[in-house]
Amino acid sequence: MNSKDYQQYLSDVKEWSEQVDHILKEHHVEEEGYAQWKQQMDNFMKEIEEKIKEKELKESELQSIEDQARALYERSLVIQEAYNDRNLVNLKVKIGEHRLPPLPYDYDALEPYISAEIMRLHHDKHHKSYVEGLNKAEKMMQQARETGDFSLLKHWEREAAFHGSGHYLHTIFWTNMIPNGGGKPSGILLKQIEEDFGSFEQFKSHFQEAANQVEGVGWAILVWSPRSHRLEILQSEKHQNLTQWDTIPLLVLDVWEHAYYLQYKNDRKAYIENWWNVVNWKDVSKRFLEARKIKWKPY
Ligand code: MN
Repeated sequence: MNSKDYQQYLSDVKEWSEQVDHILKEHHVEEEGYAQWKQQMDNFMKEIEEKIKEKELKESELQSIEDQARALYERSLVIQEAYNDRNLVNLKVKIGEHRLPPLPYDYDALEPYISAEIMRLHHDKHHKSYVEGLNKAEKMMQQARETGDFSLLKHWEREAAFHGSGHYLHTIFWTNMIPNGGGKPSGILLKQIEEDFGSFEQFKSHFQEAANQVEGVGWAILVWSPRSHRLEILQSEKHQNLTQWDTIPLLVLDVWEHAYYLQYKNDRKAYIENWWNVVNWKDVSKRFLEARKIKWKPY
């Protein structure tokens, strides 16, 4: 390796350094790990520059500098990843501020299987209207909390479930597809599918039938159950009834009559008011701490 290669290294390292700088500056992030890494990087750059000036480049030094450059580059990737994770948390979707995620490929990318015309309409019109409907429902429920007027709550809860599930499911749907996709999964997912459904072929037949047999409009959905530690296939009629798919329950209250009728008769209201006295907030917190480990890119 000669000094020309050194120059190449120098410019590569500079470029990595600038990339990380840019990302962190743009978002005004201070990070101890980043500062340390930056210091190392600066020292290292100085070292290389001096050696290049002196033109005393031994083979062993070249190797050592190459190794150091690689190590620093890998460190920069770790820092960027940590930064991105944290940024994800900061980018929480505020009430009524969901956005239409961009399609991760061109409209015609899934042809001939799905036409560009369908993709354009499906994404730009249908998905967009779910985003708008969800934002509206969230704002109206916020307004109800602020004014204490819950008279239209049932309507807005339905809207939030319908449009919310529509938005969340389509957001998953777009990334579940890719040009030149297909085939079989591999690794841990394949193993789990084989364990829970018998074989990949049996899973595929089941999923296909579930989709075929959805009554009216809806979805076929492969889910992971954190409770049973198994995969399951479910159908969703329309999008919701009245859940928002892609959410995790934290606190639930059973208002079936069997839960209160023997004691409260038809006074559901009294049962609900008294129920607050037995809520286990520690358990709810525990579920929340586990659930919040999952964070998808906000939209
Ligand atoms: Mn759709």
